[in-house]
Amino acid sequence: MPKAEIIAIGSELLTPEKIDTNSLWFTEKLNELGVELRAKTIAGDEIEVIKDELKQALQRSDIIILTGGLGPTEDDVTRQAVAEAIQKPLIFDENLANTIREKFMKLNRPMPEANKRQAFVIEGSTVLTNEHGTAPGIFIEYNNKKIIVLPGPPRENQPMFESSVLPILRKDSGNRVIKKRVIRVSGMGESAVDEAIAPIYSGYQNLKTSILFNRSEIEIHLTVNANSIESAQKTLEEVTKKICEKLGIAVFSTNGETMEEVVGRLLKEKNKTLAVAESCTGGLISMRLTEIPGASSYFLQGVVAYANEAKVKMLDVAEELINRHGAVSAEVAEAMAKGVRERAGSDYGISVTGIAGPTGASPQKPIGLVFIGYADDKQAKSLKLILPGDRHLIRWRASQAALDYLRRQILKSHTL
Ligand code: ATP
Ligand code: MG
Repeated sequence: MPKAEIIAIGSELLTPEKIDTNSLWFTEKLNELGVELRAKTIAGDEIEVIKDELKQALQRSDIIILTGGLGPTEDDVTRQAVAEAIQKPLIFDENLANTIREKFMKLNRPMPEANKRQAFVIEGSTVLTNEHGTAPGIFIEYNNKKIIVLPGPPRENQPMFESSVLPILRKDSGNRVIKKRVIRVSGMGESAVDEAIAPIYSGYQNLKTSILFNRSEIEIHLTVNANSIESAQKTLEEVTKKICEKLGIAVFSTNGETMEEVVGRLLKEKNKTLAVAESCTGGLISMRLTEIPGASSYFLQGVVAYANEAKVKMLDVAEELINRHGAVSAEVAEAMAKGVRERAGSDYGISVTGIAGPTGASPQKPIGLVFIGYADDKQAKSLKLILPGDRHLIRWRASQAALDYLRRQILKSHTL
């Protein structure tokens, strides 16, 4: 399996303003070819730095992709740095100069003297045509390693990668492919997930599994390395199926869907409608649901009832209930879900009431205490949670928990 490395060149990439996105795009493309990335570097427009980085990369990787610094100005030194690193001369290429000159003629402009720099080629290299700019790319083999140099702008280097670089790399990637999939899990911790699925993934030699915690859910990242797309796909399907069987309802997404998309899809499939009553989430659940196009077919209304009076006036929560149990209580959460469902005339009602902090806590009701309410035509019930995090995270996690609670109720009621 060949190993690759990327060197992103440009002093602007070392400032807080500009981020290197080229390497992300190239990494995805390389992975699809079955080529793994060993390292990536960001180097300023300095000959010595670029030279050092390239020399190091040549010691440990088979394919080195450099981007940026091929422009016509003094600070574009990549071409020269590469030539010096592999001790090859730069030779002026009359044909290439004419090609660049023609590009300017098409724009009705004379070629600036500076652009002549771009007509110097490294001895023994292949020129990679740039259809969208003046800077040509470079491909050269050195000690059985492949060096590929592309201009910095994505609109130039991406088409160049597709048309010139892919065919070069495909030849010796041995036709390996890498495919990925993310499985999302709710209501379980990282170690519990790992414990449950380790016997599954450890049975596959060509599978890499990582388990990550992401705000309010666990993500299982599966990466399979196979000799064809079909075989990669087959392994992914098989592993996903086994994981779903093992983790059951905790798995909410196997194809990139978000929680709100899953809930939206379920409501649509079952032909059911929803109304939402929110206190501490301030409309976040409604916002998430309505971000999905077509939400109007199942989402009827969202009520933000922050003050106690609002819960009484807009959701018909009995004042006496609030006085007796407090606004953050199972009783009030259930009454909110019931109230919003009845007012909206929907199939389901869900609600959230909680303490997002940093103020408002008491010994009995700590920060992060959240009650999720649920109501349908037969029942109202609630879930008590103590969510960790700051105000922002607690609100997000509460919104996720409410959507997940609904998801589980829908699935349960339809499998009984
Ligand atoms: P040009 O002929 O446009 O000067 P160049 O090869 O010299 O090409 P740079 O000057 O290094 O390219 O970069 C031009 C622009 O391309 C930058 O301003 C930036 O917007 C974009 N760019 C460069 N490198 C990257 C990168 N690693 N990730 C994302 N964008 C990049
Ligand atoms: Mg530049």
